[in-house]
Amino acid sequence: MMNYALTPVHFLERAGRYFPKVELVSLLPDRSEHRTTYGALHRRARALAAALQAAGLKRGDRVATLMWNHYAHLEAYFGIPAAGGVIHPLNLRLHIDDIAYIAKHAEDRFLIVDDALIPLAEELRARYSFERVIAAPLAGRGVPAPYDDYEAMLRGAPAEFTYPDFDENEPLGMCYTSGTTGRPRGVVYSHRSTTIHTYNIVLMGGMAITHRDVVCACVPMFHVNAWGMPYGCAMAGAKQVFLGPHLDPITILDTFEREQVTCSGGVPTVWIGVLDALDREPKRWHLSPGLRLVIGGSAAPETMIRGFDKHGITVLHAWGMTETSPTCTLAPLKHGLENLPQDEQYAYRAKQGIPHPFVELRVCNANGEVASDGRTMGEIQVRGPYVTERYYKMEPDPEKFTPDGWLRTGDVAAVDDEGYIKITDRTKDLIKSGGEWISSVDLENEIMGHPAVAEAAVIAVPDPRWDERPLAAIVLKPGARATAEEIDAFLAGKFPRWWLPDQYAFIEEIPRTSTGKFLKSALRERFHDRNAAGLVRIKREHVRQAR
Ligand code: ADP
Repeated sequence: MMNYALTPVHFLERAGRYFPKVELVSLLPDRSEHRTTYGALHRRARALAAALQAAGLKRGDRVATLMWNHYAHLEAYFGIPAAGGVIHPLNLRLHIDDIAYIAKHAEDRFLIVDDALIPLAEELRARYSFERVIAAPLAGRGVPAPYDDYEAMLRGAPAEFTYPDFDENEPLGMCYTSGTTGRPRGVVYSHRSTTIHTYNIVLMGGMAITHRDVVCACVPMFHVNAWGMPYGCAMAGAKQVFLGPHLDPITILDTFEREQVTCSGGVPTVWIGVLDALDREPKRWHLSPGLRLVIGGSAAPETMIRGFDKHGITVLHAWGMTETSPTCTLAPLKHGLENLPQDEQYAYRAKQGIPHPFVELRVCNANGEVASDGRTMGEIQVRGPYVTERYYKMEPDPEKFTPDGWLRTGDVAAVDDEGYIKITDRTKDLIKSGGEWISSVDLENEIMGHPAVAEAAVIAVPDPRWDERPLAAIVLKPGARATAEEIDAFLAGKFPRWWLPDQYAFIEEIPRTSTGKFLKSALRERFHDRNAAGLVRIKREHVRQAR
């Protein structure tokens, strides 16, 4: 067979040639609407590549982006790698010092920024010097010095452009972990790894994206390539819809209705609000009948999956991480399981699922691989062609990689006899009570099933007798009422008694990470003191823990 490099740049050529009229719709930061096509993307991304080369971009140079989700970011997704560069989207929700640390660590040479984000870029420039800064005038106005005008660069790009002779193992992009569990670390994606990952998400049984789809990623493009959706859509020729910074439920639903979106993806915190809006006004939106949502990034509660089903929207639960490009597993109902009673079907769909092709997955504890009994917990370890083998500019860390070459994910799960994994926690979030493990994820998912509860996060708090005990922080739905005793009674019978939280806190909102996940470290800090304000203690005799 021919030695033909696997590169997503091929998807740009294919979309430009075979799907030139398919639309790319963007809601820009100022809420104006922008419509373009794959035909224009093809021209403009190549022009960007030619302009970057003319500006001195060399093979392997990092080009940072500081941009929301829209057509120009998509042009960067293709144009930078097409020039032989490495696209490095910066997570603009991080603290400015962290953004600067990341840009410096990655040695980003150029920066492309939305004009709406120039104030942020200026803060960044005060901490780190890019060789060249380019601003995309989305609002149609000129850009201030020292920024180069992105549109002028594209207009002035050399007409002739030929692709470099790609080696598929060359870097294409990079992303830093958001630092939920420590300092951000860089992960470098290659042309090959990104291609294989793209195939997996486009595959049937995955997001199953075809040219008939209209896809709206509700994941920022600065977070793990928006889970690969922009590349996957281009590969399939699917229409794409971008929401800029507008991820509020009403904008999401209005856009889904207007563009008849058929597929989307995002973290549960985005969908909590969307489901609530649908429950309040079930007749307001006329959504595409085949709409499916891929939910991941943190656990999708079973009640969320059931809730969307009631509106005719199918949820597919997925798991992955920055280190794994990210998508590793998906939980479609396997053939045969659809004959099970409904409750059991939902239990499967609420798990994180089975691995994609080429992803090898094992669950290990101190004694080696655990039994597939659906109960014994261990750490998920993975390997495969789109799993990183080290962090950028760091020696392989034995805490993160096993001696036999698997990535230690830090996620704790049990695996059942069908091969579905169910994540019970991150190692650092597990509650260790009297030598036993309590799953904070199971508890919070159940609490979120209470009709008065909007959101819940369960954390470990130090306990002199048991080492750690669970505390539940709860946000009630607007206008709803519930007491700690009522929630406690709701949980009783669903868990062993010693799992039930000893303390409850009703709070205004749960702090979030830059990627929209619950920031449990902030809750741990706030409630570290057993006598912290607002805590309700449940008085109960402690039962002896089962061993
Ligand atoms: P960070 O590690 O900085 O939070 P990532 O986006 O890489 O950023 O997060 C990956 C982590 O998110 C996983 O290790 C896991 O703990 C969690 N996660 C992702 N998907 C799921 C899911 N479906 N269920 C539970 N946890 C998930």
